[in-house]
Amino acid sequence: MGGAVCDDRAVSDASPSRPRPPSVERVLGPVRARLPGADPSALAALVRAVVDAERDRLARGGEARAAEALAAEAVGRVLAFTDPVAEGGPVPPRVINATGVVLHTNLGRAPWPTVAIEAATVAAAGYGYLELDEVTGRRGARFRAAEEHLAALTGCEAALVVTNAAAALLLAVGLAGRRGSVVVSRGELVEIGGGVRIPEVVARAGVRLVEVGTTNRTRAADFEEPLAQGRARLVLRVHPSNFAVTGFAEAADLAEVAAIAHLHEALVVDDLGSGALLDTGAFGLAHEPMPSERLAAGADVVVFSGDKLVGGPQAGLIVGRAALIARLRRDPLARAMRPDKAILAGVAATLGLYRAGRAVTDVPVWRAIARTPDGLRERAASIASGVGSSIEVVALESAVGGGSLPGQVLPSAGVALRVASPDRLAAALRRGPDRVLARIEGDALVCDLRTVEPEDDVLLARRLADVAR
Ligand SMILES: *Cc1c(COP(=O)(O)O)cnc(C)c1O
Repeated sequence: MGGAVCDDRAVSDASPSRPRPPSVERVLGPVRARLPGADPSALAALVRAVVDAERDRLARGGEARAAEALAAEAVGRVLAFTDPVAEGGPVPPRVINATGVVLHTNLGRAPWPTVAIEAATVAAAGYGYLELDEVTGRRGARFRAAEEHLAALTGCEAALVVTNAAAALLLAVGLAGRRGSVVVSRGELVEIGGGVRIPEVVARAGVRLVEVGTTNRTRAADFEEPLAQGRARLVLRVHPSNFAVTGFAEAADLAEVAAIAHLHEALVVDDLGSGALLDTGAFGLAHEPMPSERLAAGADVVVFSGDKLVGGPQAGLIVGRAALIARLRRDPLARAMRPDKAILAGVAATLGLYRAGRAVTDVPVWRAIARTPDGLRERAASIASGVGSSIEVVALESAVGGGSLPGQVLPSAGVALRVASPDRLAAALRRGPDRVLARIEGDALVCDLRTVEPEDDVLLARRLADVAR
């Protein structure tokens, strides 16, 4: 701080006409008066930051502002720190997702079901019997509603919820044991996203990798040799979530691999990535593997994501044989991957919707997948009528995203604005206060309504009318 003040004097001596910001004391006075309950040292630190920023602004040629204006800015920032809908507040700015990508990784993947939000709020707001036995009054097992739902939904013997699927994978690979080895098909040595690669995950788990097969073809028989020789005690299958191999390609059948593995007393861990609890085939998509099918085919442990096609809070869901889940639960790593009580409540409430048969109507991700082109076209027509002549209703194709169902699309509908510079329009829509993330197709700015909740249609129409003018 002292250095900055000296520099400032030196500069202003050299150019006496350059405006200087008001002193910290002059700004702090009115701030303290308006926020009487706030900690004075926290306010002083904030005001210093505001005055420093003002000095930079003036150095770049900005207009001088009065102490009162800076005080108002500082007060606004203090209030925004805790206001969930304020600019600069604690929540990433809300955006209307008009991309048609249902699980948009950059937009936080799955929006939570309402009951999950309510459950998390209740769990967060007070004390609860998270690890206490109501009858004995002593420490009990950690709250297990989510895990009971998983057993009912997948037919597993036991389940465990951790922070995310990457953590679940790291934990499950550890079943190979200290200095153990894991066999993986060369066709499945993939990058699962964000630069995370299967060989690196395996290495980080302290386990050696034994590769079998080739990039395009691996047969069940390829697993025979390393397992028969006892070179590995675990087979890892990784779902090719975010790409599709076409042409001369073949992946080993899980049931056949599991039979060979079990013959040699090895385990099979199946990383499904997304893992659907409803049949995607019923919605005109390819069939995404379901955890129940994979367990039935012989996988000993299946891991999948809580915030991909399950459509709830970020979590890693692990289902499988009771003895193995018990081993995972005892692993010290599991403690480092333990979800928060509010997340656990949100996951349980989301899974509860599947058991209640309400997932298609109450899980936003499935609601988006289930929307029909006819219904979307109707909404598009109503939005277009409010915007003007430069807009038209168009047929579109939406993607599920989030590393699910690569290359698969859902027929959709939306609106297109054909303008000279769709990039400029997209940039204007992207900015606040009512942000919209649209798509650009050729010379048009396109909004796919599949991922827009109907209650946002009016807002979307207003924003489009604003930028189209
Ligand atoms: C997405 C994905 C993961 C990681 O899941 P997160 O929930 O992002 O941690 C792991 N494996 C596969 C195959 C995936 O598609």
